[in-house]
Order: sequence, then structure tokens, then C-alpha cells
Amino acid sequence: MGKVIDVMSLYPKDMNIYGDSGNVLTITRRLALYGYEPRVTAYNQGDEWPEHVDMILGGGGQDTGQKKIIDDFFRRADLLRTLATDGVPMLMICGMYQLFGEYFETVDGTRLDGIGVIQAHTVGRDVRMIGNLVEHSDEFGDIIGYENHSGQTFLRAGVDPLGRVDEEGRGNNGEDHTEGARMNNVIGTYMHGSLLPKNPAIADYLIRVAAERRYGEFGTADQTREQREELERIDTIAEQARAVAA
Ligand code: GLN
Repeated sequence: MGKVIDVMSLYPKDMNIYGDSGNVLTITRRLALYGYEPRVTAYNQGDEWPEHVDMILGGGGQDTGQKKIIDDFFRRADLLRTLATDGVPMLMICGMYQLFGEYFETVDGTRLDGIGVIQAHTVGRDVRMIGNLVEHSDEFGDIIGYENHSGQTFLRAGVDPLGRVDEEGRGNNGEDHTEGARMNNVIGTYMHGSLLPKNPAIADYLIRVAAERRYGEFGTADQTREQREELERIDTIAEQARAVAA
């Protein structure tokens, strides 16, 4: 058997909009093309927590979706905080990004407490921030995607954003040019799109960290020539998409 990587898709029933499931597909496909054996588990409310988790991917959702999952999410809060502290790579988009923060006060005034993995809070506004989003990160280069949120997120001092929005889009709050956040190996971001097909550098970061944590290294010894070529082909397409957007 190949080297297994256990990937969790977090709340795909309620927290999965604007193509966020594409992130799970991208990770699955790229892991296989690197010669790993991806094993994906969907975790929804009330499900059993799997024995092993190497990576967690969470998507965006309506305020109603966020309210639906919040109780179950809190039952898993300690576990998620421990995994985040241990360095498990996680990608949390929009609605889940907000709930990984300290709290989200929705536009109707409901306060949803977050689990505080990311030191940030979010306040819902009447005016939604919608449109293409381009940001720059020193580590990942230009990151491209799409945002649609009412929540304005403010990072606490010292928290690293994922990137800086200079031209296109609003980002965390439309005011301070930051977008997303990083904490250990957790990435929170407003980037839908889906994010990972267009930004393979982020997918590879998550994969590399997951493989290093589980196997002590990220190796491509089991990769075939065909797999390598297919990966190159996919990366070329992503590069073309990025050249148009960025
Ligand atoms: N409901 C949240 C907001 O509007 C998150 C939206 C999303 O995940 N796209 O801010």
C-alpha cells in the first residue's frame, strides 16, 4: 500500500459554497499525482471523528449554515485547537475562517463565538464585499480568487495575514489591505474560486506539511513519469489562469 494521507473535509453539507469543494478535489488529485494515497473523510454534524487526520479543509457558508454547525463545532473545539497547535495543516475559507477566529457578530446582531485558533474577530455589515480578489504573499506569490462576504474581519496586532490586497478586491475588511490570516499551519482566507486549483503553491504547501508530519519527509519516490507530466500540465493551466487575473 502507498503512503496514505488522511484528509478531512469539514462540514461539507453546510459549509461549502462558491466551489469550495474544488479544494478537496485538488488536494486529492495532487496527492495522488505525487504518489500518495489520499483518503478523504467528510465530517458533518454528529459524525464520528476519524482516527487519523493529516489535513483539514473547511469551506464557506451562509450565516444560516454557520449557525447550524456551531454547536457541533464547539464540541470539537478543543480537538481542533490541539491539532492546530500541533501543526496540522488546515485551510479554512470564508465562513469557516470567521469561526476559527474569536467571534463573528452577524449582520442581524447574533454573536457566534469562534474557537479562537486565529486571533481575529468579524463583524457583519449591510454591504457585502463581492468580486474578484487578488492578493500578494511573499511565500505564495500572487493569489487569485473570488470573495463574497458580509463579515469584516479584523486581525489582532501581530497576526500575519495571508496576503496584501493592493488592486482588486476588499480582503479582510476593505480598510487595511490585509486578506486572510496564518497561525501555525492554519490558513484562513476569504478566497473562494475555488482557491486551490488556481493557486497550486498553496495546495503544495498543505501537502508538504501533511507528508512531513506523517512520514518525516515529503518525497515523490512513488511518483510515475505520467503522474509528473500530468502535474506539469495542470500547473501550466493554473499559470495561464493566474496570468489573466493577476
Ligand atoms: N456568512 C459569512 C459572511 O457573509 C460568510 C460568507 C461566505 O462564506 N462566503 O460574511
